[in-house]
Amino acid sequence: MRRLRNVKIVATLGPSSSDYETIRALFEAGADVFRLNMSHGSHAEQAARHAIIRKIEADTGRPIAILADLQGPKLRTGVFAKGEEELAEGAAFRFDLDPAEGDKTRVCLPHKEIFAALEPGASLLVNDGKIRLKVETCGADFANCTVTTGGTISNRKGVNVPDVVLPLAALSDKDRADLEFACELGVDWLALSFVQRPEDVQEARALAKGRAAILSKIEKPAAVKAYPAILAASDGIMVARGDLGVELPVHSVPPIQKQLVRGARAAAKPVIVATQMLESMIESPMPTRAEVSDVATAIYEGADAVMLSAESAAGEYPVEAVTTMDSVAKSVEADPTYREVIEASRRVSRTTIADGIVAAAREIAEATDIHAICCFTQSGTTASLVARERPSVPIIALTPIPATLRRLCLTWGVHCVRTETIDRFKMAVVWAARAAREYGFATETDQIVVTAGVPFNVKGTTNILRVAPCDERLIFRTDPE
Ligand code: ATP
Ligand code: MG
Ligand code: MG
Repeated sequence: MRRLRNVKIVATLGPSSSDYETIRALFEAGADVFRLNMSHGSHAEQAARHAIIRKIEADTGRPIAILADLQGPKLRTGVFAKGEEELAEGAAFRFDLDPAEGDKTRVCLPHKEIFAALEPGASLLVNDGKIRLKVETCGADFANCTVTTGGTISNRKGVNVPDVVLPLAALSDKDRADLEFACELGVDWLALSFVQRPEDVQEARALAKGRAAILSKIEKPAAVKAYPAILAASDGIMVARGDLGVELPVHSVPPIQKQLVRGARAAAKPVIVATQMLESMIESPMPTRAEVSDVATAIYEGADAVMLSAESAAGEYPVEAVTTMDSVAKSVEADPTYREVIEASRRVSRTTIADGIVAAAREIAEATDIHAICCFTQSGTTASLVARERPSVPIIALTPIPATLRRLCLTWGVHCVRTETIDRFKMAVVWAARAAREYGFATETDQIVVTAGVPFNVKGTTNILRVAPCDERLIFRTDPE
């Protein structure tokens, strides 16, 4: 099984996508990475989804990445007795510290630091800013508000207070417990919400102890300002447009998206564009033209991945949403303009031998009739460098390390294949040719490019580039040991 596109698809799992059949259908429709949102659902539910994904991996023989999204210092409402309530414009509504279930008149907002910092006149924004309230009166444990923009409020919706600076730690006790839980489960990526400083990333990395790669969600003005340092500290980036568009004016989101994608591409780190990509598909089997355009824009920008949130987690058409993204991706990537745009936006400063080898691999492959660039990689770095080149020729990443295979599921254009431990270059070429043939990238009469590092199984040594035949008899006859 191989994908016929370069951009990857991340699908959030939730109540609409919890059983084997649905998650398998999402995978077959095109989801490369599954996101577990630790803000919603119990550990038992997340563990069950994790087990189903690993079962699908075993059943299909293809690696799948799992990304656990930590809530971070996100403010959220408590739950409602009826699960949700309709708030009408002009109505009175109260937030307080009472843990009792909410109703039409009030709900718990379990963050005393908000009440301490609130002032009359401040705005409270709920659910990525869809519902807005104005504070009328407030005290140490309550805020009486008027609804200024109505809508449906439901369990554990995010709350933003853009007018107020809140003193919040990067990782709450819940986040630490969730992080440990997710690492023990064996997730591949951890996403950190509301990162503000590179130190926030380092704190999570120290706790993860190498068990998962760290992705920073950029959704705070402070994170946009400190982006170069946060990017340097992170393994990947998410353009988390939901909170970004509430914390900053919504019209600043598109230029910030472009800046973040461009920076991550240059750093050879995967970048996800997220939130409301196909929002109307929560309730409709057809997306709007604007949404399709938004997905296409992210792909033209060269993002590594596009993401579904509520569309796949809580919507009525999870599989259709993935199918839509998959077809938009194929359509964009078939457009000759796409290649022009991708090439014009390639910004690579090459300083190492590996940089030079992957650039040469792309040039050779694109200039001649080469069917795939096959790269042997330990940590995944070489595969990311090949992906940074955004070549027009398919990329096959080969590694014996399952964690590397799975992490690379998020990286643009990379088709991951597991190998046995290899100690001779000739065997590397044999494995590469076999993978290229098995997954339909090449036939026996075609040629591939192979990059690897000798000696084998040492991190960071890419130093060989070979143009090789796919015919095994030829490899054995002609290749050096
Ligand atoms: P974030 O800011 O981390 O994106 P979110 O609340 O916006 O948090 P999403 O993962 O974007 O959450 O999903 C959108 C909506 O889908 C959620 O608000 C929630 O209603 C629903 N949802 C997602 N995952 C789950 C889950 N595991 N259980 C219940 N509902 C979920
Ligand atoms: Mg968010
Ligand atoms: Mg969201």
